[in-house]
Amino acid sequence: MNIKFLRPYYTGNETRYIEDSLSKSKIYGEGYYTHKVQKFIEKKFRTQKALLVPSCSAALNLSTFLLDIEAYDEVIMPSFTFMSTANSVLLRGGKIVFVDIDTNTMNIDPSKIEEKITSKTKAIYVVHYAGVSCDMDKIKMLAKAHNIVVIEDAAQAVNSKYKGQYLGTIGDLGCYSFHETKNYNCGEGGAILINTNNVNIIDRAEIIREKGTNKSKKFRGEVTTYTWLEIGDSFVMSDILSAFLYAQLEELDTIKLERKRVFDFYYNNLIKLENELNIKLQYIPEECDPNYHIFFFLVDNKHRRNIVIEKLTDLNIEATFHYVPLHITPLGKKLGYKEGDLPKTEDASQRLIRLPIYPSLKDIELQFILDNLVDVLKKTL
Ligand SMILES: *Cc1c(COP(=O)(O)O)cnc(C)c1O
Repeated sequence: MNIKFLRPYYTGNETRYIEDSLSKSKIYGEGYYTHKVQKFIEKKFRTQKALLVPSCSAALNLSTFLLDIEAYDEVIMPSFTFMSTANSVLLRGGKIVFVDIDTNTMNIDPSKIEEKITSKTKAIYVVHYAGVSCDMDKIKMLAKAHNIVVIEDAAQAVNSKYKGQYLGTIGDLGCYSFHETKNYNCGEGGAILINTNNVNIIDRAEIIREKGTNKSKKFRGEVTTYTWLEIGDSFVMSDILSAFLYAQLEELDTIKLERKRVFDFYYNNLIKLENELNIKLQYIPEECDPNYHIFFFLVDNKHRRNIVIEKLTDLNIEATFHYVPLHITPLGKKLGYKEGDLPKTEDASQRLIRLPIYPSLKDIELQFILDNLVDVLKKTL
């Protein structure tokens, strides 16, 4: 057997919808499927406005544009995240303030946020790691008390819920990824969710997305000519990709259930062996309904982590780890951070192992992964 870490799921309708999009002869960013997907997201996840963009990185950049960051403005975020969360702030000239995580979920620890809030703090960027929600009640309460904005990096959390509410719709803005590595994909893609009925903010998001112009209004026939109004960028996704994505979103809950099957298999088998194998499984708080994006567990030290991954690779089972915390990367160090600044982030990120999780994993493959994993873990105790 040869178990890949990732095999993207295709519904079979992707090419049919792409051909349909082509036949409608409008394949740039304001086409039939783009609007169809945006409406789908607005209705299913219940947000005021969804705009498809080329990636979650683009959604984060568009979010940070909307913040109007000025020099020395501060933005709070975890260091245990993908670099796009941080890039979006640096691109607008802001300053990043990293906060340590809760290692049960690897999400930002709300009890460590308040001490980092200053008069310069503009926003908190939360990252819902593995599709499991951060403690949004506490974070929103803090944000309200200090009059700061909450932006959700929900790249991994499309179709996850917190207390019944979809992630990406709880903060002021939410950012989704439809990258091939995520649960619902179109190769490269993303969306920004604008969770306010303030038309000025929605208008501005459309303007920034269309190179700083009111072209979207022209498409809707609300103005006869469009013009350049402010600094913008091109954050528009082709209708071809939207068509591909629509096929995936039609099977949103089927895909989630298939991932749950894999997750539950690992979880139910390994939870009984936690002590014996000296591992710690990820924790899903009761108020969270995740999308099963990642299955991870922690071992007791980095050395063992590396050996386990190596031995699994030898057995043709691809397991991986991530992230190197941003604050101890070369750029993080240039920004003034150093080892020891975020002890929990540094410690847990070195002990984390991710197992393959995707719909096409067969039961026989899962049993093969489990048997070998348990064997390797026993031998490395
Ligand atoms: C994948 C990911 C991103 C980036 O998504 P793209 O669509 O590839 O730009 C950002 N943040 C997190 C937490 C991610 O996992």
